[in-house]
Amino acid sequence: MRTRKRPALLTMLLLATLHVQADEPASDASLSAAEPPANATAAEGEPQAELPRARSIDLDEPVADPAALPGESPTIDEEAVAPEVAEDDLARSGTPLVLLGVEVPAATATRLAWLPGASFEGISVPTPVLVVNGARAGPTLCLTAALHGDELNGIEIVRRVMYNLEPEELSGAVIGVPIVNLQGFRRGSRYLPDRRDLNRYFPGNPTGSSAARIAYSFFNQVILHCDALVDLHTGSFHRTNLPQLRADLSHPEVLALTQQFGATVALHSARHGNTLRQAAVDHGIPAVTLETGESMRLQEDAVDHGVRGIRSLLSNMGMLKRSGFWGQAEPAYYRSAWVRANSGGILFNKVELGETVDEGDTLGTITDPITNVRSEVVSPYDGRVLGMALNQVVLPGFAAYRIGIKSSQEEMSELPQGEETPATPNPELEPDADPGLDPAPELIDADEDDDLAAFDIDAHLEASE
Ligand SMILES: [Zn+2]
Repeated sequence: MRTRKRPALLTMLLLATLHVQADEPASDASLSAAEPPANATAAEGEPQAELPRARSIDLDEPVADPAALPGESPTIDEEAVAPEVAEDDLARSGTPLVLLGVEVPAATATRLAWLPGASFEGISVPTPVLVVNGARAGPTLCLTAALHGDELNGIEIVRRVMYNLEPEELSGAVIGVPIVNLQGFRRGSRYLPDRRDLNRYFPGNPTGSSAARIAYSFFNQVILHCDALVDLHTGSFHRTNLPQLRADLSHPEVLALTQQFGATVALHSARHGNTLRQAAVDHGIPAVTLETGESMRLQEDAVDHGVRGIRSLLSNMGMLKRSGFWGQAEPAYYRSAWVRANSGGILFNKVELGETVDEGDTLGTITDPITNVRSEVVSPYDGRVLGMALNQVVLPGFAAYRIGIKSSQEEMSELPQGEETPATPNPELEPDADPGLDPAPELIDADEDDDLAAFDIDAHLEASE
C-alpha cells in the first residue's frame, strides 16, 4: 500500500500549544503535506483540472429534495471554476482536497458519496461523506461514526461538528462520515448484513470477504486522506461508557492526540487487531476511539461531551481559532479491568458511571428471582467506573463493570497482552442471532465493547478463507 509523507502531528500540536496563530501562513515545512494526497482513483501526478469539482454548499442548510443528495455521482458543479486566490493573500493558503474522485476547492464545503462496492448495482447504497475544506492550509482530520450501525451518539456528534464548521474559519480540512455502516444502521444492527463486525476487518482486503472488501474500500478511498482520525463508538450489549478515549498510549503521536480533547478521560488500549483505529495507526495516521454512552440511544450529555471534545481538538490542532480551553485535563488510565458477575440473576447497580471506587466497595447486587438469594459484586480495585452494564438479567461471567486503575506509564508496559480483557465466549449476547442458524464464529467473542476483543477469531477466519 502506498504511503505518503505526513505532517508531523506532534509538531502541529506543539506549534498550536505555543499559541502560533492559526491564520499565519503555512511557512512551516511540516504543513506542506496538507496538500491533497492522490487518492485511489486519481493517479499521482494526474492534473487535477481533469477532476470534477465539488459544488460548494452550505452544509447546515436542510436539503428539501432528497434527489439533490449525492448518489452514484457526487455533487459536482460542471460550471465551477477554481476560486480566485490573490497572490498576495498569503493568509488564504488553503489547497484543494482530492477525495472520491472529486476536487473540493479550498474554502468550500460539500457532500460526497462513497460507494462501498459490496452489493450489486441495483441496490448499491451510496454512503454520505461530508467535507469542509478550510480557507487556510492545515491538517486533515477525519471523524467516523456508526461503524457499528446501532451506535447513534456518534452520528449526532459528527452532524453537530460538521454543520457548525465555516470553511472561511477553518485551517485544513475535516472529513466527516456520520454513518459508515449504513446497512447496519438501517436494520438497527451493530453488524453488516453478513453478520460480521466491520471493525474487525481493517485495513481490509480487495479479494476477501464482503466485510473485508467494504473495509478495504473505505480505508483506501477515505481514511488514507486523513492526518488524524477520531472513530466514534458507544458501549455495546446493554452497557454504557463514560465519555473516554481509547488509544495506544505507548505511541507518542497517539498519546499527544489524546491530550487535546479537554476534560476527557483516556484509557490505554494496546494493539487491537484489525480495528479501524489500529489500521490507521499502522499506516502512520494517529487515531483514537471516542466512546460515549450506550448503543441504540441518543443521549444529550454524551453527544455534548463528544462535540466539546472534538471542538477542543480542532482548536488545539490549530484548525480553529481558540474558543477557550474546556476543563482540566482528565487523567489517563494505563490499566483497566472488567469486574464480572459471579452469580446469575437481576443486576442492580449501586455505583454511577464515572464514580471513584475503593477496593471492597459494592458495585452492584445480583438477586436470583426464583430463590431470592442475593449477592454483591465487589470491586477488587481502587479506581474509577469507566464503563458498566445497565440494570438487567445477567449470567455468571457477565462483564459488568470496567474499572480504570491508576497506575504509572511504566506499569502499562509490564502488563502482558490481553490481561485486561480475558476472553469469555458470550454467545447469548448476540442480539442479531437467527435462532435457526449457528452464530457466525466471529460473533461469539463479541462481548465487552466495540474496541475490545482480546482474541480475534475473525483474524483466524480470514486467514483460512
Ligand atoms: Zn462500536
